[in-house]
Amino acid sequence: MKVLITEKIPSSAKTILEGQGVEVIEFTEDRPMTREELLTMAKDCQGIISMLSNKIDKELMEACPQLKVVANYAVGFDNIDLAAARERGIKVGNTPNTLAETTAELALSLMMSVARRLPEAFANVKNGEWKRWLASGFLGRDLKGKTLGIFGMGEIGEAMAYKCARGFDMKVLYCARSPKKNAEEKLGAQKVDFDTLLQEADYISVHCPLTPETLEIFNKDAFNKMKKAPIFINTARGKVVNQVDLDEALKSGKIAGAGLDVTEPEPLSPESPLLKHANVLITPHIGSATHETRTNMAALAAQNIMAGLLGEKLPAEVK
Ligand code: NAP
Repeated sequence: MKVLITEKIPSSAKTILEGQGVEVIEFTEDRPMTREELLTMAKDCQGIISMLSNKIDKELMEACPQLKVVANYAVGFDNIDLAAARERGIKVGNTPNTLAETTAELALSLMMSVARRLPEAFANVKNGEWKRWLASGFLGRDLKGKTLGIFGMGEIGEAMAYKCARGFDMKVLYCARSPKKNAEEKLGAQKVDFDTLLQEADYISVHCPLTPETLEIFNKDAFNKMKKAPIFINTARGKVVNQVDLDEALKSGKIAGAGLDVTEPEPLSPESPLLKHANVLITPHIGSATHETRTNMAALAAQNIMAGLLGEKLPAEVK
């Protein structure tokens, strides 16, 4: 049995696979594989550990007639054509229960950094502009007691809600398709409709998957409904936001700042108008990027592969 790992990931994956007699081939260059490289290297593999940057579509599946299982090294799976996989009996896995805390920690870091204007303040020090203590310079805003609106109250959204409610006494409003009793009982979180979230939140943090319903749901219409000039945080997917409208909302002051770990496209061009705003902080999709979490993700991806190769139920199967 042969498995392709399409990018360098922690050795926990390879150790598990090789320990079970699987031949592992890895793409180890410090860049994403090209489409041609992916098609060539995967063609006689039964399993692929794939990254978000790998399009796993019909063409690829047809080019890999022995493919039994794809384990995405991520919780999101919008890079995979699930219907095409289902048609061919190819199982698809992802890595839930491994990265929620880590990604929520990043969302919180972005929120705190933008609230306290850390990018601007650091630039001030680096550029030699720090001359004296300022009575009125770099005034930011507090988190304590403010209202947080969470769009998408799943694993990451709930982890974020917990940190903000317990750590900063924040009132939590949320949107999801189904009520979250645990967060309501333990944190006093309230499920609200989208317009209420937009109108009442001082901070908005996005944690939904990218689907046809959430595509560009944060658009001009949504930004115009925001009443409190919130700080907007997105660690979900770039495409849930219309970036032209986001730029406009920053210019007009509809929002007070933005922290983005995801953009459209990725990588974001250094020419993007978003980078011209002092109150915007953008990170290069590093939500799950800690040693601990990536090691756990690698192990789960390998377990998904092993189960798929053996025809067993995947520990984390995408249905
Ligand atoms: P999850 O547990 O599946 O939670 C998703 C939440 O979104 C659920 O509460 C779901 O509602 C809600 N939702 C789905 N469609 C919605 C809609 N149309 N309107 C309102 N709410 C909706 O996923 P997760 O693990 O928290 O991850 C969320 C997303 O974060 C992933 O899909 C991925 O794209 C992104 N992510 C990014 C990074 C990063 O590195 N920046 C890392 C991990 C994940 P129900 O619960 O009612 O179904």
